[in-house]
Amino acid sequence: MQKSNNLTPMLKQYLSIKDEHKDKILFFRMGDFYEMFFEDAVIASKILNIALTSRHKEDNIPMCGIPFHALSNYTQKLLDNGHKIAICEQVEDPKLTKKIVKRKVVKVLTPAINSEVDNLFANENYFLFTYYKNNLAIVDFATGDFNYELNVDINQLIGEIEKHFPKEIIISDNDLKELKKETYIEFYNFSVNLINENLLHTNNSISDYLQGYKNLPEVITISLNYILENNKFIPKHLKKPEKISINQYLILDENAITHLEIFKEGSLYSILNKCSTPMGSRNLRKWLSYPLTDKRALLERYDFIEKLIETPKIKRKLLEILKQIRDIERLNSKIALKNILPQHLINLKEYLKLIPQIKKELSKIDTELSKEFNANLFECFEFIEKVEKFILPDPSNNINNGGFINRDINKELDELINIRFNSRKWLLNYEASLKKKFNITNLKIKFNKVFGYFIEISKRNTINIPDTFMRKQTLVNAERYITEELKEFEEKILTADEKISKIEKKIYFNLLNELSEYCLNIKKVSDIISSIDILSTFSEISVLYDYVKPEINNENKIEVIDGRHPVLDTLKEDFIPNNLEMNEKNKIFIITGPNMAGKSTYMRQNALIIIMAQIGCFVPAKKLSYPIFNRIFTRIGAKDKILEDESTFMVEMNETSKILQNITEKSFIILDEIGRGTSTYDGMSIAWAILEYCAGLKKDFFLLFATHYHELTVLEQSFSNIKNYSVDVKEVGNKLVFLRQIKKGPADRSYGIEVASLAKLPDTIIKRAKEILSKLENRQPPRSKPKIKEKTIFDNIFKNEKELILEDIENIDILNTTPLDALKILSSIQNKLKKLK
Ligand code: ATP
Repeated sequence: MQKSNNLTPMLKQYLSIKDEHKDKILFFRMGDFYEMFFEDAVIASKILNIALTSRHKEDNIPMCGIPFHALSNYTQKLLDNGHKIAICEQVEDPKLTKKIVKRKVVKVLTPAINSEVDNLFANENYFLFTYYKNNLAIVDFATGDFNYELNVDINQLIGEIEKHFPKEIIISDNDLKELKKETYIEFYNFSVNLINENLLHTNNSISDYLQGYKNLPEVITISLNYILENNKFIPKHLKKPEKISINQYLILDENAITHLEIFKEGSLYSILNKCSTPMGSRNLRKWLSYPLTDKRALLERYDFIEKLIETPKIKRKLLEILKQIRDIERLNSKIALKNILPQHLINLKEYLKLIPQIKKELSKIDTELSKEFNANLFECFEFIEKVEKFILPDPSNNINNGGFINRDINKELDELINIRFNSRKWLLNYEASLKKKFNITNLKIKFNKVFGYFIEISKRNTINIPDTFMRKQTLVNAERYITEELKEFEEKILTADEKISKIEKKIYFNLLNELSEYCLNIKKVSDIISSIDILSTFSEISVLYDYVKPEINNENKIEVIDGRHPVLDTLKEDFIPNNLEMNEKNKIFIITGPNMAGKSTYMRQNALIIIMAQIGCFVPAKKLSYPIFNRIFTRIGAKDKILEDESTFMVEMNETSKILQNITEKSFIILDEIGRGTSTYDGMSIAWAILEYCAGLKKDFFLLFATHYHELTVLEQSFSNIKNYSVDVKEVGNKLVFLRQIKKGPADRSYGIEVASLAKLPDTIIKRAKEILSKLENRQPPRSKPKIKEKTIFDNIFKNEKELILEDIENIDILNTTPLDALKILSSIQNKLKKLK
């Protein structure tokens, strides 16, 4: 940055303010613009796509600017790109000072601590994560949620990041290094703040806020300090920190969320998210991130949904009411953050006025949950009364100009409003009297910002004008005058306007202070409405997509009859349903079948059905009976972590190892094509050993294991709890028909070449592949041509020579090979071995 010696006073002032906000982009108010300088200007101009100029030609100081009225259009873009912003205003009237005008940072915005709630996407959460000493705090500043979890290791932290996609994370240097070892953090696009000493100290605001709460982990203090650092006060809508105990929920391992594509566009979340309110849409994300393990809570949700399905009239009415409600949660935050407009306050009040109607409908359904909702839905009467008392029904939205506070609130205000009203009348009378007196019909009294009130008379009518008219301005066709009377009037009305806006503003902010005392209650109301919204949506979807109410069993068995993949089911009319029946005796399924047959779909659909059931939703099946699961593990597909120094195979093995180490009672595991990332024999051996290990584990879990290694299917004979299943296909002539049906028993073969031909590989390749396959499958080499077999194997088929040699040794058919041919094969093997060395 620039040395400040030869800088203008303004730039010196800039640098001293910037010094306090080094980690932020400083928006420096200069007249009608916010200007940015130096490195800030370079970064901002690129992101905001605005021209980069320079202030001092000789110094070449980079600079860019935006018009002050368009501030919010620009700030959000920078925040979305992970930057923090400090907004610096002129805090005195430039006309009143001869020196450089005073400036001060009045607002700080960060990607997660953003009081400009209106700029945020409705369906998105803006989470702040704080991770310290293995504890994690999660704050959503825009909604007021504040949770924490204890004993979270780095891998669990990644799992939480996968679920929440935080905008910011506060973390120690060491933990950050650990995190970087485990995952490619740039992928998540959050901004990182390192923990410093200042964030660990407590202060009065924090003690006041946490009154009555003891033994909270330090992550809470750090989060609150960070809020104070950027927002100056702890807003009233922020809930007291609530502990999340991971054991209360079905844990989706860090890969399950990605592999099962729960939150991706067009995935489970999109299917389920038909919520009417933004709070419902956001809360549904939370439900999907934390499926329940509490049987009672789940049964209560099922009952509520069922009752609504049985009483469509009530459901329709509820949905109708919910559709009229917008974002109560965020409007509530705006009260606490003191940046709500009067019209929005009126809107919020109107939404809250619908609560009695919701309660009325709830009281018609006799379920535990409807009773609980009804009992806790606070009607906010006082809040509504206050807003109606203070705010005009159709208020002006300009906080600085008044026009939004009701009459009968403040005597002085009423008098001033009267003066203004009467003055207007006076003005009209005065104009009429002048017209009459001077007989000038087109005489007009006008107003502008420069001259205030004036009388305008066309030039040809100015002859009879008396001296009491003082000329103010001459136009081409008209003259403008003022009179003593008009001046007096102006004084009165302008001071009245000024006073009115001052008084109204004061009343408004006092009112917001009072109203913010209701924020925690309104937050509760919003949470309940969001739950009602989600459950009403579930009941609507259950009818629409023909879902069934799940049954929870106390035995260790899962039974899915005619299960469907929730997403594909809505896309494909001909989606084929499938069953899944697993229990103690059948806890590991080896699933074989051709490529493209539907193995992955089948495994995923069952995992998704469990997740749906455990968020309290009905499921796409004819029947589901399940024991409550506490973990879902997935290992699907290949992804590289090249940047973390891990090959595809290494990722596969790491993920599998984590799963095997963490299998719990009541885990549901899906492993897809384990061992595919390495040579056939290595991979198959690993897969084999994993299956043996799992079969011997004395835990209640279920494992679906899809593989192309048909050799593994013999394991069914050695382990009573392993069963073979396959996805059926039929060959009609040369063509392969996918039946998509799961059946007992292993697949007869892979049909890989047939599937490859469907992908239109050149005919010559398909033909040759078939020849090679038939030779490979026919492990007995033809007696008369052992050399051909040897040559084919060595030169054309395998890539891995080590594997080749093993294969060839196996293929020597001692009984049917002439001694000479056998010798030839052996010598060829010797040669190959030499080459290998
Ligand atoms: P691979 O072994 O090559 O990974 P796969 O056996 O795992 O293949 P999937 O990816 O599950 O096959 O399915 C392939 C395609 O088949 C899916 O994209 C889907 O469109 C279709 N499909 C799968 N199951 C069904 C079903 N039950 N009904 C209708 N279509 C299905």
